[in-house]
Parts: sequence; C-alpha cells; structure tokens
Amino acid sequence: MENRTILSPDGYGFNFDNSYLQLPPVFHKRQQPTEVKNPGLALFNDSLAISLGLNIDALKKHGAQLLSGNVLDQGANPIAQAYAGHQFGHFNILGDGRAILLGEHITPNMQRFDIQLKGAGRTPYSRSGDGRAALGPMLREYIMSEAMYALGIPTTRSLAVVTTGEAVYRDDAYAGAVLTRVASSHVRVGTFQFAAANQNPQPLQALADYSISRHFPDIADADNQYLELLKRMIALQAALVAKWMHVGFIHGVMNTDNMSICGETIDYGPCAFINTYHPETVFSSIDANGRYAFGNQPKIAHWNLTRLAESLLPLIDESEEKSIALANECLAEYPNNFLELWLSGMRKKLGIFNQEDDDITLAEDLLMHMQKNKADFTNTFRSLGEEAVHHSALYQDAGFKNWLTLWKARLARQNEPYDESIRLMHTANPKVIPRNHLVEEALHAAVNDGDMKALHDLLLAVSNPYAELNHQSKYTQAPDPVFDQQYKTYCGT
Ligand code: AMP
Ligand code: MG
Repeated sequence: MENRTILSPDGYGFNFDNSYLQLPPVFHKRQQPTEVKNPGLALFNDSLAISLGLNIDALKKHGAQLLSGNVLDQGANPIAQAYAGHQFGHFNILGDGRAILLGEHITPNMQRFDIQLKGAGRTPYSRSGDGRAALGPMLREYIMSEAMYALGIPTTRSLAVVTTGEAVYRDDAYAGAVLTRVASSHVRVGTFQFAAANQNPQPLQALADYSISRHFPDIADADNQYLELLKRMIALQAALVAKWMHVGFIHGVMNTDNMSICGETIDYGPCAFINTYHPETVFSSIDANGRYAFGNQPKIAHWNLTRLAESLLPLIDESEEKSIALANECLAEYPNNFLELWLSGMRKKLGIFNQEDDDITLAEDLLMHMQKNKADFTNTFRSLGEEAVHHSALYQDAGFKNWLTLWKARLARQNEPYDESIRLMHTANPKVIPRNHLVEEALHAAVNDGDMKALHDLLLAVSNPYAELNHQSKYTQAPDPVFDQQYKTYCGT
C-alpha cells in the first residue's frame, strides 16, 4: 500500500498507538482512507484539540489534508473495525462501512482516544454503501455531540468537519464531508456479538480482556472479571440513558452496534431533543413502530444489555446454566439501578437534596401534567421557581397548580433554603438545547448558502447550556409545535 505520510514541520501533536491491532485479525481490516479531490476545513474544534494536546496551528494550516485522510500522520495505522448488531431487533454482521480508525491518540496526560474519520471511503465492510458522508449530517453530528458534551453527558466528540470537494449521491447530490470523531473507544455491544458469533472462543476472550484492560483495569483481579465487566457495562448504560432522559434526548437508533461499551453516546444519526413533552415522541424516519421512542429508551437499553450478556455467557462460567443464572442476576438489577439514577437526577432537576419515598410520584406527576398540557420539556423545568408570570396552558391547569403547591411543600421539608434549591436546579436544568428548528436553520445556511454564522452562533449557545440568557434569546424559545410534528431525522446519510 502506498505511503502517504506527510508531516507538518512541527508535527500535528498526534501521538498514535494502535492497541486494537493486537486483537485477533477477525476484528479489523487494514484500510487506507480513499483520497478526496479538494479537502477544505469547514469546522475545527479548538478547545477539544487543546485538551488532546494537538498542534492547533499545524492542524488549521494542513488539517484539511490530514483530517480528510488524504495524508496520514506518523504512527497512524488505519483500520476498519468489524462488529455485528441487532438493527431494530434483527441480527446482522456489520463493521465500519464508512469509518476508518487512524489509531489511538495518547494525550500528554496519558489518556487514550480513538481518532476516527467518518465518511473516509469504502472498506471491506461497506456492503453496497459508498463509504461516504454528506456535509449536513456530519455538521449535525458535530453540533449534537458537542451539545451533549456541554450538557455533561458522556459522548464521543467531534474534532473537525472537512468538506471533500466531491458530491455524494443519496436522493440527490450533496456536498461530501468527513467528520473526525474522538471516542474513548469504538468497542460496541455489537463488537461482543460479533466475537460471540465466531465458533472459536478465543477472539471473544481476547476482546473481553482488551476491554477490561482498556476501560476497566480495576476489575482485572476480580474473582469473575467477565461478570464484573457485564456489571460495569450495565451500570454505565443505566447512567447514560438516565442522563438522556433528564435532558429530553432521543438517540433514535439504539441498535446494539450503536452502544459503546464505555458508556458514551455514540452514532449521532437520527437523534433529536424533544420540545413538547410526550414519551412516545419519535423523529426518526425509519422508526415506524416507535421502537426507539423517547420513553422506550430505558427498556431498549435493558434489551441491548441482555444481548451483551448472551455474548458473554461462554466467559462467565464453564457451566452454561450457571452463566445464565449469574448473568440474569445482574440483568435483574438493571431496572432498579436505572430508576435510582433517574430519580436522583430528577431530584436535582426539582431542587431536592434529601430523599422521600414519594419523590418518584412527584417527578412522574410533573411529567404527566407536562404531557397533558403539551408543555415544553426544557423550559418547564427551567421555569420552576422563576418569579415570572407564566401564561402557558400548563400554568393555567388546576392539577399543575396543585402540583406546584406540593412541590414547594416538598422543598420546605429539607434543611437547604429555597435559594439553594434554585441554584441546584440551574445546574441540572439546561436553558439551551439544540432545538430541532435551530439545528435545521443552521444546517440549511451552512450547506445551501455556505454561511456558517448561524451554526457558529448555535454552537456557542449549546456550549454553555446552563448559563442565564436573556429570556428573549431565540435559543431559549420553544418552537411552534407544528415544526416538530413534521420533523423527520435520518440515519446513515
Ligand atoms: P449506522 O446507521 O450509522 O449505525 O450504520 C449502520 C451500518 O451501515 C454501519 O455498519 C455503517 O458502517 C454502515 N454504513 C452507513 N452508511 C454507510 C455508507 N455510506 N457506506 C457504507 N456503509 C455505511
Ligand atoms: Mg452505527
């Protein structure tokens, strides 16, 4: 294979290692990115680059060549990763069809991050796909992942979006782009399913050992480290999905290949935030049955974790019967585990510091009133405790007025003063989320008019989601509900 390594005189600051290559060869195929015609840097994440210890000046100067995959930095050893996954409940063998892992960057403080180019060309796993991505969806992933990061939710991040100067063909021709995705790793539940589908048990054990040493080194000495691995992954997924539920995030395509084992939100395809609260909200154009609706997410995570547990059975115990019993014991804890995490976040959202048995009813009743009155999820939480007079249907509803009285009485039954509750709530109730209509407005200007101003303004707003903003700011206004009724999101574009 040709060597396309070109170095910036000062280097780019990448410090690549390629530990994934030590896994058995079934897990990856070496694959160079496919060169693109005319790369141009559309977006670059300065603060992420700084935190990774990268050379910003060099990347801004030559980054388009490097981050399109046209040239490779020293130490990069590009591969496509193999995995499988249940897509809408159906098992398929998959793999990176359009993503290429350059390597693992080791930061100056010794953290390890995958650096992956999404949209970098065909791979042996591409099937009928073109290996490419369109600019709009890559800018969208950048906005959504950075918004999630700023909200304090574990997520992959976006270092850059590079335009390719080439068209990609979907329902029409679109500008092509490559996103640089940064992740703690790209090992998925589906990677374990891929390993378990192999007749030979050795790759499965190698993957489990790799995952433990990379993500959970403290369990390496546990009596049953593979059972501990399952427990950790259950805990991380429960925590992640609870956080999604706290901010109204709908992942949209919770296939098992889109669940990272280190508990980061991954694969921003048809995701969206809810505005008007309703647990059955779905935006994804292909989710006709609402499998991945907002309110189903906790249950789906449990289903996905059950698929993970099945994959791990051969490692947990020599006796299949005993493995199943042990795995089931762990899985049985998930619903309570999730509920506790959800409730503890809801207490923060309601300014509650201590615990009472009825807190769950208080939280659920608020959601019920919001649903009944078609209230805006984000703004309702932020409005609680505000002095302003609210004219919305919710605030005219007798049931909700009664709820407010119960809530205030609840706050009075704790030592912390009311002001402290409000301060706590302001750390848990974002003022700004990437509202669907604003995301689309920014993408439209960027893609159709080449005007990045709205996108940069939106990125700035979502990067500081808990800050006090002027009430008139467009970033805090709930949209006309008609927009969301017609809004559709898409996968794999
Ligand atoms: P996703 O819906 O993004 O999770 O993708 C599901 C599978 O389809 C993954 O294996 C992707 O790598 C693959 N895929 C998505 N888009 C493309 C494309 N344009 N070319 C090749 N493979 C793709
Ligand atoms: Mg995926």
